[in-house]
Amino acid sequence: MIHRAQDAVRIMRPAYAKINLYLDVLSCRADGYHELLTVMQSISLHDDIILYYEPWRQGEIRLRIYGAPLPTDGRNLVYRAAGKYMEATGQSARVSVTLRKKIPIAAGLAGGSSDAAATLLALWEASGHALSRTQLMELAAELGSDVPFCLAGGTQICRGRGEILEPLPLAAPLYAVVAIGREHVSTPEAFRRMDQYYHGFDGSVMHGGAPDVLIDALRQGHPASAAETVYNAFEPVILPTCPQARSLRDRLLEAGAYTAHMSGSGPSVFGLFDGESAARRAAALLGRGAYAVRTVGENFP
Ligand code: ATP
Repeated sequence: MIHRAQDAVRIMRPAYAKINLYLDVLSCRADGYHELLTVMQSISLHDDIILYYEPWRQGEIRLRIYGAPLPTDGRNLVYRAAGKYMEATGQSARVSVTLRKKIPIAAGLAGGSSDAAATLLALWEASGHALSRTQLMELAAELGSDVPFCLAGGTQICRGRGEILEPLPLAAPLYAVVAIGREHVSTPEAFRRMDQYYHGFDGSVMHGGAPDVLIDALRQGHPASAAETVYNAFEPVILPTCPQARSLRDRLLEAGAYTAHMSGSGPSVFGLFDGESAARRAAALLGRGAYAVRTVGENFP
């Protein structure tokens, strides 16, 4: 059976982190999820997925991780994504994944969601597109609210709990610095604080953003105008308890950022810069935990 080894399919995929150029929480739904309006953007900071697909071997999932002390069993989103994909296709194969982590964990950069999406895409390719794109999106939504965005990638206006996507073609790339301190922010706790802050979303609150202005500026390629309307509704409930994130935000502004805001529910912050060299200089000034990045386009051709 040695000749069958030649059939091994090996796929490598980057799993890109995201930032939120806009993030508003509109309401708390009856099912407990929050209704969001967010503009998510893939950035060049990424993990790597290397996947071997061996359909002649007994069906199993193997996961090895370098760069972070994460579980390699069903608690890991990569493992869960592979399990769901194999179940949905009804195929049997040994799926061996090596994950190299570079995206900081629990930082608001969707590292786990992006790993799950990259696993789905790698398996989709390896298995000869055994599911439709719609089925792949449905699997992604079952894995987590940010996974559909990570599957599509690029720039997307996301609604619902994040899974309803509308692509937003960027007229020009953006350059940013992402900076992460050591503070911990739990996402469920961040939503609890939002509920308190907005009185359970009883309809009496005014939200601060101007999404249409931001979306227009991105479509037309005006980064400075886009920067003026970057918005994150979590900031008033998270930043007061995260002095490191506040200080990183201030340092990004001092280093010349057009604007600096939190990504997701934090604690990562990012600043937008006027070009790649400005971003690199700022990242060097901030030092450890700061990454110069650029925007990345969609995953589907
Ligand atoms: P989001 O922005 O989508 O809220 P995040 O960037 O805040 O996500 P992640 O890095 O995705 O957070 O990690 C959240 C939790 O998911 C971690 O506490 C971790 O234990 C778990 N997790 C499961 N699989 C992974 C993975 N492959 N990479 C990172 N975390 C994972």
